[in-house]
Amino acid sequence: MKVDVLIVGGGPAGLSAALILGRCHRKVLVCDEGRQRNLSSHAIHGLLGREGKSPSDFLDEALEEISRYKSVLVRGTRVTEVVPAGEEFRFVCADGTTGAASKILLATGLVDELPELEGVEPLYGVSVHHCLYCDGFEYSGKPVAAYGRGDKGAELGLVMKHWMSDVVVCSDGTEVSAQTMQRLEQQGIPLRSEPVQSLQGKNGELSKIVFRSGPELPRAGLFFSTGCHQASDLSKSLGCKRDEKGGVVTDPVTGETAVPGVYVAGDVSRDVLLVAVAIAEGAEAGVAINKAFLRRDGLCE
Ligand SMILES: Cc1cc2nc3c(=O)[nH]c(=O)nc-3n(C[C@H](O)[C@H](O)[C@H](O)COP(=O)(O)OP(=O)(O)OC[C@H]3O[C@@H](n4cnc5c(N)ncnc54)[C@H](O)[C@@H]3O)c2cc1C
Repeated sequence: MKVDVLIVGGGPAGLSAALILGRCHRKVLVCDEGRQRNLSSHAIHGLLGREGKSPSDFLDEALEEISRYKSVLVRGTRVTEVVPAGEEFRFVCADGTTGAASKILLATGLVDELPELEGVEPLYGVSVHHCLYCDGFEYSGKPVAAYGRGDKGAELGLVMKHWMSDVVVCSDGTEVSAQTMQRLEQQGIPLRSEPVQSLQGKNGELSKIVFRSGPELPRAGLFFSTGCHQASDLSKSLGCKRDEKGGVVTDPVTGETAVPGVYVAGDVSRDVLLVAVAIAEGAEAGVAINKAFLRRDGLCE
């Protein structure tokens, strides 16, 4: 198969780029293995015009919109290899699809590192969260916990105090520095430093935190600060530069990575990690790629 653009990843960033490129009559293949970062959540918040929509409904609608553009193909598969080959790139997918593309857009997203706590998985995305901009608003007036080791959790708790009045920091058997402890005291934020045994709840709703010793802590929500990493190593194997946070670096003018012909959009760059930003970055990458084709064809400077 020969395409103008291979888009790796069909989340908001990749699909937004596919929409722009489809409208530019470019032949596009979108390969997506279907692990969009927010699928465990019930609602997307902070997305103008789509506030509160479920992530899976959002993706269904986006795919339906893109299906109107016959030059765009979408396949549910993982891209396992992309290698430069002269003026183009050769690619291989897990379902056996192989081909060549003139440009590559990596919209592969990130994977969140969940805290290793018993009971966390069924609560994640419903009452256990990592992003205050996504989910903080819903917890004003409710009892919440900030989870993180050492000063990390305490610093998260301090920021949470802006959204919620009843915040308790859980440092899970680790120490908080004297300076940060003083800031917690100044803001009236209690610290529970005992090791956490489990999170308990029903139907995704957290009800309490159980410690290895000491009383249980009834809570309606928990925010954590652990970290995340790239969902795909393709940017690394292609030789794209990464910054100190692990985000892929792009040229602010051309939108390209350090590897000519390879672009990125969405969470991969580790800029602001929101759906609205991923959509905007996808559109920007789509325009940048189309401009590169126009230049190649002598149609623009
Ligand atoms: C629990 C949770 C809740 C969130 N809530 C919100 C919210 O309320 N509001 C908000 O704005 N943001 C929210 N976010 C953040 C939001 O999910 C991301 O900013 C957004 O999904 C980024 O879009 P993306 O297209 O860059 O990546 P993703 O949506 O993660 O999509 C990347 C896609 O690429 C695929 N992929 C990766 N590697 C390959 C490969 N080699 N081959 C093929 N496919 C590949 C992945 O499987 C995935 O389907 C939330 C995140 C989480 C974790």
